[in-house]
Amino acid sequence: MKKGNLKHVQKILTECRRIVITTHVNPDGDGVSSELALARFLEKSGKEVRIVNRDPVPEIFAFLPGTDRIRVSETLPHDADLVVVLDCGGLDRSGLKVNAAAPPPVVVIDHHLTNDHDGEINLLDAKASATGELVYLLLREMERAGAVSMDFPMALCLYTSIFTDTGSFRYSNTTPKAMTIASELLAFGINAWMVAEQVYESKSYPVLKLTGAFLQTLAVSRQWRFAWGTIRQADLERTGTREEHTDGFVNYPRSIRGVEVAILFREVPGASVKISMRSKGKVNVAAVAEQFGGGGHHNAAGCVLEGTLPEVTRRVLKIVGECLDDEACYESPACDT
Ligand code: 5GP
Ligand code: MN
Repeated sequence: MKKGNLKHVQKILTECRRIVITTHVNPDGDGVSSELALARFLEKSGKEVRIVNRDPVPEIFAFLPGTDRIRVSETLPHDADLVVVLDCGGLDRSGLKVNAAAPPPVVVIDHHLTNDHDGEINLLDAKASATGELVYLLLREMERAGAVSMDFPMALCLYTSIFTDTGSFRYSNTTPKAMTIASELLAFGINAWMVAEQVYESKSYPVLKLTGAFLQTLAVSRQWRFAWGTIRQADLERTGTREEHTDGFVNYPRSIRGVEVAILFREVPGASVKISMRSKGKVNVAAVAEQFGGGGHHNAAGCVLEGTLPEVTRRVLKIVGECLDDEACYESPACDT
């Protein structure tokens, strides 16, 4: 893996004309915001920029300036001089089909711990609160080198990226640097409450019904060291909701006092299960997710496993139980999966 710095990335961006930007499947606030800020800056610099994602922008991020220009596609355009992959390890995680005969050069900008970064240039910093923090530093670097400046829409996106990836400035990645950058972004005139309201206070009634269904499934281990909950496809169908509406659900089992690891099991059409894991610090859930082919951060990670919901649940709970010297108890109603 080749590590790069801001200057390397700035240089290659300057040299290329047709640039495609993408992020991971099921994009989150950090991925989308980072894409939009970078795209806007590069466009102002005279580049031809396209943003292509496999999955649509979650509706809570529709307020971000430029989301209407994000193209949803299964395939990476074949005619790009350069692809910038944001907030994940590489094109694999983008879910986009790549022309294997002529793979494009790739720059990865990411803050995940996992060691699967496969760009020509990888701008990585696991200490960065969000990919948006790295994009902010990159835009500042490019500002110094050229005539284009950061503007309000870019600042709004980058603020949103740090705001969402730090859990509203609550998680341990809320560093002095993250706060300093957020403060500089706020100075562009951003209304912090407007962002918070859009992201966290604009839920629909069906989403609350889905939350209710999810809370009914919550279960805890014998020693109360881990807790989990389940979303079935039928829950989504019954309430008229989608996968994106389960974002943040894993925070409910995490919020139980004493629980060290929380897990969300979400049934995916086609006999697989998406796992979201959260840790309060003792267990590195990225390492657990990596065992199953996924990844993430020490305290937030995920993976997708083939199998039915009960099979996958048992497999994952067994491993998590071993990490915590605890076990799931299936016979008790309190531990019902
Ligand atoms: P979430 O649980 O919210 O989907 O994801 C939590 C963290 O784990 C995010 O940083 C995300 O990028 C990472 N993550 C989630 N699912 C996967 C996966 O299937 N593969 C990898 N490599 N990372 C994942
Ligand atoms: Mn991120």
